[in-house]
Amino acid sequence: MRFIEKNIKTNSLVIEAKNILETSGHYNHSDRVRDIIRILYSGCCAFCESSIEDSSFFQIEHFYPKNIAIYKQYDKSIENLHYSCQRCNTLKGRKLQTKIFSPNYFLNSNQWIETIEEKIENEMYYIGYLLFSYNSTKKSIDRGNETIKLFDLNNFNGFGRSSRQHLVESRLRVFDKIYNILNVIFEMLIRYDKKNNDAIELLFSIVSRHTNRTSHFSTMVIHNFGSDLIKLLEIYSIKKNTVGNKR
Ligand SMILES: [Zn+2]
Repeated sequence: MRFIEKNIKTNSLVIEAKNILETSGHYNHSDRVRDIIRILYSGCCAFCESSIEDSSFFQIEHFYPKNIAIYKQYDKSIENLHYSCQRCNTLKGRKLQTKIFSPNYFLNSNQWIETIEEKIENEMYYIGYLLFSYNSTKKSIDRGNETIKLFDLNNFNGFGRSSRQHLVESRLRVFDKIYNILNVIFEMLIRYDKKNNDAIELLFSIVSRHTNRTSHFSTMVIHNFGSDLIKLLEIYSIKKNTVGNKR
């Protein structure tokens, strides 16, 4: 689960989709609207962050279900449409889920309010490839936990109907890959040799790609490796400059 930037006032893609939806009526009538939603969500599921390579096919999901009469009017609101893998869409079901985060906008007295990115980031975090929730005060809803449970993000249900074994394994693969690359960079920096600069920079660029918000599981990579990556980049920059100056 992560926040998706979807500014309905300034993002030209969102404005375009809004205009098409107002005139054509339904996202199903326009390939362009479906494309825009896919681009906004970087081709990753709004709820489990998986990409098409880790998941089944993708669907456009209504956060406020269209089968509930009072939400029918939001059927074609871009604020209500999210890119979702088929499994998350199914687990979310056709009822209103009041205890989970919305990826960007939520309704308050018929008004769309923007979710705060930090809210999601501060309430759910990764340790390794598993997601946890900072269990907030007893009185408030623990949205982190509810989200993890509903979408079975840690594969609690094992081999059951909602098993997310594949999802957890995909996250583990990304985690291991980044962990190994950072270790190699670390070793190369200890035995620093100028002629390895190209190789080191290539490895850095691979890791950086995974921290980009357009990559699947980027939240996990940033949570686990963000500060290590910055430290290694600093060390590299120092080594590169001092060794370069000596010659
Ligand atoms: Zn999903």
